[in-house]
Amino acid sequence: MEPTGVDVAALDHPFREGLLAGRVAIVTGGGTGLGKAIASLYARLGARVVLASRSMDHLLPAAEEIRAAGGVASVVSVDVRKVEDVDRMIAHTLETFGKMDILVNNAAANFLVQAENLSPRGWNALVDIVLNGSYYASRAFGRALIERKQPGQILNIVSTYPWTGCPGAVHHASAKAGVMALTMTLAVEWARYGIRVNAIAPGPFETPGPMEKFNFTVGDEVYERVRQDVPLKRFGQPRELAWLAAYLVSDYAAFINGETVVIDGGTWLSKGYFPYFTPGVL
Ligand code: NAP
Repeated sequence: MEPTGVDVAALDHPFREGLLAGRVAIVTGGGTGLGKAIASLYARLGARVVLASRSMDHLLPAAEEIRAAGGVASVVSVDVRKVEDVDRMIAHTLETFGKMDILVNNAAANFLVQAENLSPRGWNALVDIVLNGSYYASRAFGRALIERKQPGQILNIVSTYPWTGCPGAVHHASAKAGVMALTMTLAVEWARYGIRVNAIAPGPFETPGPMEKFNFTVGDEVYERVRQDVPLKRFGQPRELAWLAAYLVSDYAAFINGETVVIDGGTWLSKGYFPYFTPGVL
């Protein structure tokens, strides 16, 4: 258990039933990890959800899980790097549910490489998925809402790297910094249309995708090193991020716009110099 003494796994969500009733939410990368946790909670709170990414291998089971829990879910195969795919995702949502209210730009990828060894192709692939994909989806979603004179919310999942940098992933950090700038810019430009745009910057969360990709498991040496670096001495649970994601698109956050909310147990603030001179502080 962490220093706060909270058993997060034992907690249910804190929201009233039907918080998102009547809403339609698109979640890119909604078949795995954090995207799946967000989509599942949105559906539990009454939203109809569209899960969008490339592979039906996880989209279909994720949608089935949501339906089995009483929710409404649809899937669409989309590569967010392709404008025509993204336009098809929007068309699919409007055809299936007749409207849309929420877009979560969560799809991303990452791989580790020293900047001097990163090829332009690798750089472009990351920027294409993370930054261009978020822009294409936001643009298509925003244009449709503006045309329909309908308000809505965009939520971008970024990271804390725009503030800290990320040695070993310059492409990923740079693309996420772009998404943070996109968040602030669209928040101001589209406020007049009633479209709020916010972001969440997660610290280390226990999700299978990155753990598999970076080859670490719960309790092993890498896991423990990351965990020790978190002031609260644990990884985040996807449900905790989903709680924040539900709040930020809800009416209760109606005055929050252009904000990036960090959820990382204090990790990115813990790099000060002086604690190393104070025995017992770290
Ligand atoms: P994940 O499970 O690997 O999720 C990534 C998702 O993106 C997958 O569902 C993948 O589905 C989708 N995706 C990748 N390329 C795509 C493309 N070209 N078009 C459409 N979809 C694509 O990882 P996660 O941990 O849940 O991460 C979710 C978000 O949180 C990401 O934005 C990540 O950067 C951010 N984040 C996570 C952590 C963490 O510790 N987990 C920390 C900081 C930030 P397909 O393969 O089907 O396309």
